[in-house]
Parts: sequence; C-alpha cells; structure tokens
Amino acid sequence: MTRIIIFDVDSTLLSVESLDFAVARALASQPGGKARADELAAITDRGMTGALDFRQSLEQRIAIAGLTSDDIMPASIALSELITPGMFELTGALRDRGHGVFAVSGGFLELLGPALATLGFMPGDVRANRFEFDEAGVVTGFDRENPLSRSGGKAVAVRALKGLTEASTAVMVGDGMTDFEAFADGAADAFIGFGGIVRREPVAARAPAYADSVDELAGLLGV
Ligand SMILES: [Mg+2]
Repeated sequence: MTRIIIFDVDSTLLSVESLDFAVARALASQPGGKARADELAAITDRGMTGALDFRQSLEQRIAIAGLTSDDIMPASIALSELITPGMFELTGALRDRGHGVFAVSGGFLELLGPALATLGFMPGDVRANRFEFDEAGVVTGFDRENPLSRSGGKAVAVRALKGLTEASTAVMVGDGMTDFEAFADGAADAFIGFGGIVRREPVAARAPAYADSVDELAGLLGV
C-alpha cells in the first residue's frame, strides 16, 4: 500500500500566485504597471473560483503580462524565498514516512523550478506548464499540448502520476477549484482543501476535508 500526496503550488506550497508575482515584479517600474498587475490578479481570482475557464484565464494573463526571459530568472529566485511557512517541514516529513510527494501546477516551470528544488522536489516529481518565447526572449504563449494548460488538466496529471507510481491512494492538496476538480473527476482518491494562504469559499464548500493552516493539513495527512 503506497500513498502519494500531490500538492498544488501557487497559494499552497508557495504563499503567492507565481505568475501574478512575476508580472507585478516586472511591471513595478513601468508606467501603468500597477493597473495591469491588478487586472491580472483579478483574472487569477476568477479562474481560481471557477468563474473563468482555466485556459481563457491563462491566455488573458499571458497577454497582459508581457514577460521576458530577463524578468523570469530573478522572479524565480525571489519565489524560492516565498515558500509557505511549514511546507518545507511537511513535505520532508511525508517523504521520510515513505510517501510519494509530487507537485502539480497550472503555473510555469520556468518560475517554479528554484522554489520546488528548495522544497526537495526532483524534476520528475513536478508537472507544470511551460512558456513559449520568441527570438527576443518575450513570452508569446505556452505549450498548448500540455494538459495543465486547460481546465481539467490536473485530473489528467494526477491520474498519470497514480499510474506511474502504482500508488493505491492519491491525495490532492490545494486551494483552487482546479485542484478540487482532480478529485471530483475521480483521478485523486481524496482531496484536502488548503486555505492557509487564501480561503476560496467555493472550494471550502465542496471539499470533503479542509485545512486552514499547515498544522491542520499535517494533522489531516497523519504527520
Ligand atoms: Mg493554487
């Protein structure tokens, strides 16, 4: 009997939404940058509560973002300092107990890599989106073949991880509706909603288990 725990990243393992963070950081010095960053965060919220299709949310955010490769590297380093307090210890304790620990994100590997490495994730433990760049290094889009770039994609990733690891039980942990969908779809056997960073009421209302802090989450995971 093996159990895998699959963590969402933005507003779960990390205390921020990584794309919003990277864009706000890049826009901070530009005229009108604050308004664009606010617009982006509002789109993220609509996506997380299920009010907006995930791919539409991603397309709109990428279009507003105007990110370049020069923005991404420093943002990814800054993100590695924004790990949710307690998550380093929790993921380590789960691994020590022999559980498989994975990260599945609708965010972008180019932004999340250093933070996830700090949390002890090996490249094979991570499923996330990838940016596409033009020759000048401007982000022009994302890998649209990646299931994580559309609604329902987390269920596809979770089902694949469960098959790959031959785990008997897959537990999904996350703050967003896309995380809950991986359970509602039947790909994950259990779901714990996480409200330690942002409590999303549509998720809290549906989740069979809900943790408002990392301590509560650890308790629910038996650590
Ligand atoms: Mg999230």
